[in-house]
Amino acid sequence: MKTLKCDLCEVTAEGETFEVWMKALMPHYMQAHADVMKGKAGLSDEEKKAEQQKWMVENKARFEAA
Ligand SMILES: [Zn+2]
Repeated sequence: MKTLKCDLCEVTAEGETFEVWMKALMPHYMQAHADVMKGKAGLSDEEKKAEQQKWMVENKARFEAA
């Protein structure tokens, strides 16, 4: 089980794998960082996908290093 901080604040989430960790973090992300999500609302679907992909790659690397 790994414990890793949110990439935007000090809140932590736990998970055996990156996927589980991401799911555990999601409710917090929606609530605490809704403004960040809203900020991306103007992006095209392609851009949103790219952003999401980038987030996954960066945070997976963080998870693996934890
Ligand atoms: Zn956070």
